[in-house]
Amino acid sequence: MAKIISGKEVSAFVKGEAAKEVKTLNEKGISVCLAVILVGDDPASAVYVNNKKKACEVCGIKSLQYILPESTTEQELLTLIEKLNNDMEVNGILCQLPLPEHINEETVINAISPKKDVDCFHPENVGRLHIGNGTFKPCTPAGVMEMIHFAGIQVRGKKCVVVGRSNIVGKPMGALLMAEDGTVTICHSKTQNLEEYTKNADILVVAMRQPRYITGDMVKDSAVVVDVGIHRLDDGTLCGDVDFNSVEKKASYITPVPGGVGPMTIAILMQNTVTAAKMQNGLI
Ligand code: NDP
Repeated sequence: MAKIISGKEVSAFVKGEAAKEVKTLNEKGISVCLAVILVGDDPASAVYVNNKKKACEVCGIKSLQYILPESTTEQELLTLIEKLNNDMEVNGILCQLPLPEHINEETVINAISPKKDVDCFHPENVGRLHIGNGTFKPCTPAGVMEMIHFAGIQVRGKKCVVVGRSNIVGKPMGALLMAEDGTVTICHSKTQNLEEYTKNADILVVAMRQPRYITGDMVKDSAVVVDVGIHRLDDGTLCGDVDFNSVEKKASYITPVPGGVGPMTIAILMQNTVTAAKMQNGLI
């Protein structure tokens, strides 16, 4: 039976460390502030934005929320971002994705100052990550790495397989595992015989947006299995991309859904916001 790596426990630890850093900065007269923009009324996005606000409260970070109507134009959004880029009180800026169809996400991501890009989506920060010179961490993949570290798992020399190649999860996940000397394979929807790769993995990270796709017979004995996926099923229950019940019988470690990677993303966002404040105040 696999040991569970609890995202609740690890995220509480990471937020606790961020809170200590905020306190130290406050003692030096430096406050820490995150601006979050939400355009439209997508209920899932509203929940995420609210969770970010709560995490800021826990960490002592001031949070500014800009809840804009669906009808907001791209230009109006860009004007707000420019204002926040120039606001010395604001350390981090996050625009909740997805955006309404009439707004170009890439244009918006590119408009956020790389120095305030706490989501680590700006091409400058993505490039820095890939050359090993990053300031901000990609939130979800860095959250996965924290869980792996917390469980005391070594990445060096391990066969690491990432299922999914999105810009937000799969690609940066591969970069972080490689940076710790894992031997990384990235699979995607055009990969032939996926199970040949997954069965070979010492560390398997699944971010494929396919409910319960990875089953026990696709996993090597004693593998470490990290499930990034999150889905709400018709009956209201939550599940991941991994079939927890069959995989936990074979894996050595597994992350649950809910209570796994989910809470980590916001915890790393808090860390990045603290990093932004330190950077903007010449402390790093
Ligand atoms: P995307 O939909 O952007 O990417 C999915 C990836 O999986 C693509 O690269 C796709 O390949 C690949 N894929 C799809 N089907 C298969 C298949 N049958 N075999 C192999 N690869 C496949 O998703 P995201 O990366 O944004 O998110 C992944 C999951 O993680 C989602 O369930 C999402 O909800 C969750 N998530 C959770 C977060 C958290 O905080 N816990 C944060 C972000 C995401 P291709 O490129 O060829 O299309």
